[in-house]
Amino acid sequence: MKQILVEWKQDHPAAGQVEEIRQEWEKGVYSSMLIHIYSGLSEDRFTSHIAAEMKACFPQAQVVGTMSAGEIKDGRLMAKGVLVSAILFEETEVTVLRYDHVKGNEESTGHRIRTDLGAIPKVRGAELLFPGTELNTRPFFREMSRCRKDIQIWGGYSGDHMLNAPVHFIFDESGVLFDSVLVTAFAGDNIFFNIDKSIGWEPLGPSFHVTKAEGNRLIELEGRPASEIYEKFLQIDRRRRNNAEEGYAFPLLAKYNGEEWLRSAFHIEEDGSLNLHGFVTEGTEIQLSYGNPENILRVINNRLETIRQFKPQVILLYSCVVRKAFWDNLVDIEMEPFALLASTAGFHTWGEVARNKRNGEVVEHNVTLLSIAMREGSAPSGELPVVQADDTLLRGQAAMLRRLTNLIFITMGELQKAHNDLQKLNEKLSVMAEKDSLTGLYNRRKIDELINYTLDDSERTGQPVSLIMADIDHFKQVNDLYGHHTGDVVLREIARVLGSVAEASGGSAGRWGGEKFFLLLPDTEEEEAMVTAEHLRMIVGKRSFPEVGKVTVSLGVITVHGDAERKQVFSRIDTALYEAKDGGRNRTVQATI
Ligand code: GH3
Ligand code: MG
Repeated sequence: MKQILVEWKQDHPAAGQVEEIRQEWEKGVYSSMLIHIYSGLSEDRFTSHIAAEMKACFPQAQVVGTMSAGEIKDGRLMAKGVLVSAILFEETEVTVLRYDHVKGNEESTGHRIRTDLGAIPKVRGAELLFPGTELNTRPFFREMSRCRKDIQIWGGYSGDHMLNAPVHFIFDESGVLFDSVLVTAFAGDNIFFNIDKSIGWEPLGPSFHVTKAEGNRLIELEGRPASEIYEKFLQIDRRRRNNAEEGYAFPLLAKYNGEEWLRSAFHIEEDGSLNLHGFVTEGTEIQLSYGNPENILRVINNRLETIRQFKPQVILLYSCVVRKAFWDNLVDIEMEPFALLASTAGFHTWGEVARNKRNGEVVEHNVTLLSIAMREGSAPSGELPVVQADDTLLRGQAAMLRRLTNLIFITMGELQKAHNDLQKLNEKLSVMAEKDSLTGLYNRRKIDELINYTLDDSERTGQPVSLIMADIDHFKQVNDLYGHHTGDVVLREIARVLGSVAEASGGSAGRWGGEKFFLLLPDTEEEEAMVTAEHLRMIVGKRSFPEVGKVTVSLGVITVHGDAERKQVFSRIDTALYEAKDGGRNRTVQATI
């Protein structure tokens, strides 16, 4: 495989310009030729005329062309013009298929392409070129995703050097095409691809869910107009013309189906919706993202290493126009190293198409640098040199951006940490506000609140609620004889028993004060409450406490059905407990209401 690149000059005779291609072709070692024309010029007549001339010079060649937002020759952004790339294959057959009237027929076109590709023997790869028309791409790509998994699929959307250009086209020798897709099929036993998309942009700020979207239009995030994400965080005014350009460096990062996609908004509508290059679906999580030069180059360097090991003969770079705008005059920094590995050409796109290796999904992307490395035959022995993007070139504005993004990143991390610490503290505080520090049971305020809440509920539902009030017998003596500390140990142990009995019966326990406790048993009748109280009394009574020996408790029990005077409830249970004490302690008395 060999690639020959020609910078097409409008006023030069075609024959002279393509002489090098002709000489190579006439060696007779090639089976087919694919001519790409990447045109930075929007004059449609002139552009399609080049395609016709190329076809006339090389009738056997397959010719595809696209408008371009930047022509990449030898890994460098050319001065705006027309780039002709001829790829000569030794064994591979290339075939260009054209599909017209795509708009409105996206699904059936996708289906036809899938069927046609499947019918080509030994098809290994397919490149798609689209005009930048507003297609309903979702059903189209759903069909493309069903292509045989071993077919590599990639592509690009035609672009224009001018952001917000009104018309876009692709072309072939017959003329310009506004509503067509050009598909180039690569077939043969000996063609190998290594294709990947590199991003390197990083998420910034909070996440939002897409709550309303239609095709390529993002209408609402969390129920609010989507444009607010740009207005609030970037101060981009939706009423200004060409408003979206200001947000180009901050595309939306969408997380969907385990994959990350970037979407740039090319226009913010007055109603607050965003027109995106590519579809978006409801339920997707969206975050703003920013280009961190250092990270972008790290991602590129990883990709360069993979390609180096693949040992390609030709590399096509289809890179988003947002990257060109982002790097500005430094754009070669991330493209030029590819040219040190193999002949490299391509164009700046208004959308990139890539196939997910894991699940076979074909999807459109933004802000990616798509590198299509190709080789015929097995990899030659011998290593290619290690190449890396030269980050010492990051100077001036880019260097400042690099430091600024670092500052944002560190600040965000610290804010996040402070936020987490605060959350932990709040959790601790709310526990402290509810729990008694000695016993770990609910404190008086909380158990009182729970009792009242449950009684309110019972007034409405008529469900029975039982309360048990427990008081340790002769506890003053425990303190007097064994000291306050031992008293605390006994208190804690009895509280633990209370807590577990309450939990086992679906209720709650709290410390009312001193050595007095409350058990709240919702949905519990008298009989059951008495059984629970007696059970509690037995467990405590059977226990032997270190140093102290036996300790007993006295209990009052009350059961309320529906409406009951609150004050009376408390005074009756108090009386019941008093009666238990008076009756000799270590007993349970049921209150009457
Ligand atoms: P009765 O059987 O009539 O309930 O007698 P009593 O000694 O248990 O009752 P009294 O109200 O006379 O004494 C309660 C004692 O409980 C007095 C107080 O020192 C002790 N007490 C209250 N809170 C705590 C505490 O948190 N720790 C300890 N160790 N003792 C406490
Ligand atoms: Mg007591």
